Amino acid sequence: MNHMGRGQQPIDVVIVGGGPAGLSAALSLARSRRRVIVVDAGRPRNMTASHMHGVLGHDGLSPLRLLELGRKEVAGYGGRLIHGEVTSARTDGAAIEVDTAIGTIRTRRLLVATGLDDDLPNIPGLRQQWGRGVVVCPYCDGWEHRDDVIGVVATSPHSIEQAQLLRQWSDRIIYFANALGVPATDEMDALVRRGIAFEPSLVTGLRIDDDRVTGVEVDGRVVPVGVIFTGPTPRPRDALLRSLGAATTNGPFGSWVDIDADGRTSVPGVWAVGNVVNVRANVSVSLGLGSLVAGALNAELVSDDIAQTRATPSLSV
Ligand SMILES: Cc1cc2nc3c(=O)[nH]c(=O)nc-3n(C[C@H](O)[C@H](O)[C@H](O)COP(=O)(O)OP(=O)(O)OC[C@H]3O[C@@H](n4cnc5c(N)ncnc54)[C@H](O)[C@@H]3O)c2cc1C
Repeated sequence: MNHMGRGQQPIDVVIVGGGPAGLSAALSLARSRRRVIVVDAGRPRNMTASHMHGVLGHDGLSPLRLLELGRKEVAGYGGRLIHGEVTSARTDGAAIEVDTAIGTIRTRRLLVATGLDDDLPNIPGLRQQWGRGVVVCPYCDGWEHRDDVIGVVATSPHSIEQAQLLRQWSDRIIYFANALGVPATDEMDALVRRGIAFEPSLVTGLRIDDDRVTGVEVDGRVVPVGVIFTGPTPRPRDALLRSLGAATTNGPFGSWVDIDADGRTSVPGVWAVGNVVNVRANVSVSLGLGSLVAGALNAELVSDDIAQTRATPSLSV
């Protein structure tokens, strides 16, 4: 089945991924009277968190409720929403075909907003507490744990910075070195100067009571904590972009798909936004970038529309 837009016109933009970035772009595009379809698998990165923080006007709202509101707004302007996972698409240079649960959709542009996966440290109990008793972002959850005993379970050299950052929210920080061992002398000095406790041993598990993290197991002991911050390895969900041949660059977090300042990938007609191409995009940034990319995408479509109008013989009136 090949899906076209209203009046058999092709769809303007298919957006793969209906998180904050994809839905924000969809809202702007639908309000620009573009024919937009969002295909979403329904697994946003922060789905295990019951509350979302630092999002102006929505502080404390559930992340899933934000998306529910966003979907309603997009649909209200004529945007179409399809549930399902997109695993294949192709481009012939002129248009793009996207395979979805309801058939193949032909579109002028493809915007990929599929987010990223957090590769968590392999510690028993940690995954079950992800987004609740185990979190990543001080700006999202630091305030809620101010003055608490905060355990930082190290996963990389950046974990030292995470511990130092969290000292802003509490003076009871414990840095669990886990497999990373003793840090460099200057880093260790800085931990001591800031009153950050140091646990050198391997972390073997978490202590959970009544579904709450209460401690970290090391050396057969339980060190009491109120919450754990850790730094998962970010894995962009970029298989679709890579399958289309999008160029990538190696950085501190591995190989990521390149975009220009507007969100264009190296593949003509294929754009990307949000965590799939930007590890630092929190909800507010994803919403903002979705809007920014939608503006640039719409402008490019307008340029195409102008070029196509020129090709049509002018009518005398
Ligand atoms: C535990 C936790 C708590 C957080 N709390 C906060 C917070 O309080 N405040 C804050 O600002 N930020 C927070 N964040 C960060 C926030 O989750 C991200 O900034 C945000 O989700 C990025 O939005 P996105 O649209 O790029 O990706 P996502 O929200 O991950 O959305 C991507 C969507 O694309 C879908 N998708 C993926 N692949 C496909 C495919 N092939 N086909 C179809 N659909 C697909 C996914 O199912 C998902 O619905 C938190 C993150 C975590 C891990």
